[in-house]
Amino acid sequence: VSAGRIVAIEPRSRRKPDFDLGNAAILPGLVNAHTHLDLTGLRGAVRPGASFTQWLRRVIQGRRTLTDKEVARAVSDGMAESIRYGVTLLGDIAAGGRSWTHLAAGPIRATVYYELLGLKRDRARNACSAVRAWLAELQASPTCRPGLSPHAPYSVRSSLFRLVASAACARRLPIAIHLLESSAEVELLGQRRGEFVPFLQELNAWDPAALMHDGGELIRLYAGLTAVSFVHANYLDPNLTPLAPGTTVVYCPRTHDAFGHPPHPFRELLRVGARVALGTDSLASNPDLDVLTEARYLHRRYPDVAGSDLLRMATLSGAEALGWAQVTGSLEAGKSADIVVVPLPDGNTDDPHDLIFDSAALVRAAMCQGRWIHNPGRIADLPST
Ligand SMILES: [Zn+2]
Repeated sequence: VSAGRIVAIEPRSRRKPDFDLGNAAILPGLVNAHTHLDLTGLRGAVRPGASFTQWLRRVIQGRRTLTDKEVARAVSDGMAESIRYGVTLLGDIAAGGRSWTHLAAGPIRATVYYELLGLKRDRARNACSAVRAWLAELQASPTCRPGLSPHAPYSVRSSLFRLVASAACARRLPIAIHLLESSAEVELLGQRRGEFVPFLQELNAWDPAALMHDGGELIRLYAGLTAVSFVHANYLDPNLTPLAPGTTVVYCPRTHDAFGHPPHPFRELLRVGARVALGTDSLASNPDLDVLTEARYLHRRYPDVAGSDLLRMATLSGAEALGWAQVTGSLEAGKSADIVVVPLPDGNTDDPHDLIFDSAALVRAAMCQGRWIHNPGRIADLPST
């Protein structure tokens, strides 16, 4: 590593090591492709349950009362926790894009998606002018990139989805959309009925004529854009609705299970060559922001999934989803030295990934741009940086 970049990856014993990390795996920095750090303060306060809209009501309630100071605290706590878990790149969806200032000042990378809501025309119009102002005022950052997140098919009118698609195309902005997360959403789009109807009426946000008709319509609308993430897609059938190349499904395994959804289609998606990345989602539905634990959770539940696929889902696929794959996400000469060190148990297996995913060992150290950002064991700095 030199000047913050990886210079070479060489076989063991080719040269004398600068230092010896012991029995450990050196992995690319982990990528959390989906979270909402502004909700970090809701840990344990809002529990997912059988009714999706009931959970949404509690999240909206929790978010409404947050002051700017509390949001700042939540984002910095969430970033500190992510760093402890070896995350060097985050996909963060933020109301009003409010996490940008804090993440841009931090030691890791992020794509900050401005969240757009608006099923009714007036709300959609306001969202458009607010996001335009946000984009115009952003200070360029070497470690933060802006993206757009038209929230979900139940909260965004089809004309707003179209406007966002053309803006993202023109400005090459990454996109994240919550898609087919609940059975209630499938019912709403297909039949204009179910628990979302009273929920949206309560919020004075009900406009059935503005809704899309199914997930496929949205997937086709965003086909061909640079970095598009469909978050959750719990009810997507990849055989009926194929994903366009370049798009990613972001799967949040423990959050998915907390809601009691049927099994996620990620194995079918991998089988048909679609890209799947891992996310934790926010602490309003997940116990922590640990992406490695998400991968280990899947390894236990689905031992048939190759460890190399899980590692890619937790690293490079996330970097691709967030529009950062040219810079980070894998250990390659020329890429940023974004690296985590995971201690390994003694012993050997045919597949070294098993040693990482069978274990519960915490990340020992994490480096971003050649600098240690988590280093409780006080590993020395690299001699060349
Ligand atoms: Zn989310």
